[in-house]
Amino acid sequence: MGCDQAPDLQLNLNVRGLKPSATVAINERSDRLRQEGRRVFKLGLGQSPFPVPAPVVEELRRHAPQKDYLPVRGLPQLRDTVARHHCRTFGFSSSAEDVLIGPGSKELMFLLQLVYYGDLVIPTPSWVSYAPQARIIGRQVRMLATHAENGWRLGADQLDQLCRTDPSRPRIVVLNYPSNPTGATYSLEDLTALAKVARKYRLILVSDEIYGKLHHEGKHCSIVPLYPEGTIFSGGLSKWCGAGGWRLGLFVFPQCLRWLLEAMAAVASETFTSTCAPVQFAAVRAFQEGPEIEVYLHGARRILRSLGQQLTARLRDAGARVVRPQGGFYLFPDFGAHAEELRGRGIATSAMLCERLLEETGVAILPGEEFGRPPEELTARLAYVNFDGARALEAVQDLPGEATVNERFLQAYCGASLEAVDRLCEWIHGG
Ligand code: GLU
Repeated sequence: MGCDQAPDLQLNLNVRGLKPSATVAINERSDRLRQEGRRVFKLGLGQSPFPVPAPVVEELRRHAPQKDYLPVRGLPQLRDTVARHHCRTFGFSSSAEDVLIGPGSKELMFLLQLVYYGDLVIPTPSWVSYAPQARIIGRQVRMLATHAENGWRLGADQLDQLCRTDPSRPRIVVLNYPSNPTGATYSLEDLTALAKVARKYRLILVSDEIYGKLHHEGKHCSIVPLYPEGTIFSGGLSKWCGAGGWRLGLFVFPQCLRWLLEAMAAVASETFTSTCAPVQFAAVRAFQEGPEIEVYLHGARRILRSLGQQLTARLRDAGARVVRPQGGFYLFPDFGAHAEELRGRGIATSAMLCERLLEETGVAILPGEEFGRPPEELTARLAYVNFDGARALEAVQDLPGEATVNERFLQAYCGASLEAVDRLCEWIHGG
């Protein structure tokens, strides 16, 4: 068959108009620009700057010869360790039988939407892939806009208002906190109110807590104990353990949703079969935790918290509206105060803003539009991860004090993040 026949065949494409995920695309584009010799500040992809903790790497090395397929739901020892870990850390009881391991929580989110018929309800801004996954499968997406003045948090009344219109409609609600892209999180009071609405309408709640262990004060609070019968906990190794490329995610189900776990496992057995064996063995060590991992997490939190505060201050000084992050490694500034000047420079949307910023300064960030915001709102996500996390973690151990590190430390170890934000601020002012 010649290529000239391809246009015909292309009419049969099932996912017409689907472009590569924004996070993946900006990462690959940044790398290409670097290969061409450009200096690029990579604040696009949200990848942990820190290395995988040494004992976990050692376990991976030790288990490299593990070559057999593992059970589709995951290595029994890992499922058991995950269940215990979650009881210990988040205060809800579960057993190995409730756990499903997958090649990244992203894949598990997709499988869930595939096996369960329901609208996808997401607050905006929210992570770039939830909505496209729903659209690939043909589900309806309902977006609930949140606002900076309210710390980018979804209000229980907003959720109630949506559900009230059609109370018995099946729905999956995804709540992600600390949030990608805002760094905002919920108080126990907020979560209690949301759980009440979820129970009232029998919603399937996916609690995406993948950044939970990166709460900057180590005080993450889970919604699972507040709505145990309907909440699926989502987590993994990618963020807190610096192992995004290892691709290991997990769901923990309540007993009453065991049928959903079973349906997902059946589809998994027909698609990916099982998750990478050596990585699962190494993950057992990660979820066992212990003093070495505690020290690692404590250091990571100190750095992320201080850097988040410092960058927030610089962005605010430049006139941006920013909510200070409480966890994770993202900032979601709004440059609306500069809308008029920017329009004068031919910039009317968040996509144009990010495009021109990258072209003119080498700073790569993602437009708010990719997170479900209106195109003309001048918001963007910065992933402040462009520094050598191994070097910074080593240095922070020798630094006395508790919660934060000082500006001198940040200049010495996270200088590229500060420089990127300074360039961004100057550029916003026309410099
Ligand atoms: N969650 C990360 C981000 O939002 C990267 C992984 C991904 O999107 O697939 O940048």
